[in-house]
Amino acid sequence: MKYLSSILRDLGAGRLSFWCPGCNDAHQILYGTGSGPRWGYNGNADLPTFTPSIKVTWSEPSDKPEEQLDETKDIEKCCHSFVTNGQIEFLSDCTHALAGTTVPLPSFPPGWGTS
Ligand SMILES: [Zn+2]
Repeated sequence: MKYLSSILRDLGAGRLSFWCPGCNDAHQILYGTGSGPRWGYNGNADLPTFTPSIKVTWSEPSDKPEEQLDETKDIEKCCHSFVTNGQIEFLSDCTHALAGTTVPLPSFPPGWGTS
């Protein structure tokens, strides 16, 4: 892992990672040449722009205790954003609290990915 800036890490093999303040977790994209979907990256580690949008979906067990083992009750989660000039714009289909807002990309939490 390579430190590019307080908000961007290079994970190698064309993978870039940033901290998502909506998910409180790291997301990553692929850029450059190679297999798999690739995003455009403006090369600016302090004010990155990625194109097109970044969509992450996953599911979590129900938060009702009696439904937690029932996969049909899983809750679908979505994080859908545009990263432009260091700002992250969350689209309205996000399932987290920052849906519909635009905020600066935050620094990674202390101790995360410093190796
Ligand atoms: Zn996210």
